[in-house]
Amino acid sequence: MNLSPAAADTGIVFSAAGADILADWRNVDATQLRTRLTGEGASVSTVEHLLAALSGLRIDNVLVEVNADEIPAMDGSAAAFVAAIDEAGVVALSARCRFLRVTAPVRVSDGAGWAELAPSGGGLTLDVEIAFEGRIGRQRRALKLTPEAFRRELACARSFGFLRDAERLWRNGLALGASLENTVVLDGDAVLNPQGLRFGDEFVRHKMLDVVGDLTLAGAPIIGAFRSFRGGHALNVALVRAAMREGVLALEGGGRAAKRSASRPSP
Ligand SMILES: [Zn+2]
Repeated sequence: MNLSPAAADTGIVFSAAGADILADWRNVDATQLRTRLTGEGASVSTVEHLLAALSGLRIDNVLVEVNADEIPAMDGSAAAFVAAIDEAGVVALSARCRFLRVTAPVRVSDGAGWAELAPSGGGLTLDVEIAFEGRIGRQRRALKLTPEAFRRELACARSFGFLRDAERLWRNGLALGASLENTVVLDGDAVLNPQGLRFGDEFVRHKMLDVVGDLTLAGAPIIGAFRSFRGGHALNVALVRAAMREGVLALEGGGRAAKRSASRPSP
């Protein structure tokens, strides 16, 4: 994967198999376990952790070239993407940044869980709760999204999965590359990764990382308060869709200059 600079108002564009696919909710065609974008006959899977890194570091315009149909998993978090972007540096553009301000509450539910956006004073706040049986249990965490908070609290939280699900996923062609190198794997209550967890609540932090990535698909940074209970990619994307359909995201210009990034190839 290569990240290259892009002009103001380009957005985040994936270039794969000769196609250019904008990171936009209208181009999402799958949300089971990961988020996949499709356009011009090509698709790119597992975009959410890269989108989280870009959004977390406030990069609005970038060209992402990939030579495969998915983004490299790296260690299952956004840490490697943040490190590569930091190494390359970012450039402020003269164009003013656009934002989407939440003007009224919007909520989606799938029976077991829900996700909502509501107006907030400024910036994007996240309040995420997950509920699993056993070791993970209920975990809840809240933060105001800033580049500093993203780096410190979310960027290195890894994907997780259960050993009991692995065979079923593999039969369905999912998680084929999952390993202890890129996933926290639980067998019952035991974490199988020899190094253990990076945070006691790494699981909910990773869910927040996914939220940051999925909300990027709105097309511009959101000013609002996000909350979810037992959420995931499907609910996150459904929420963006519902917010667009109900017209509760007002586009406005901000005071900051937009940024772009330039990066050497990632390993
Ligand atoms: Zn994830």
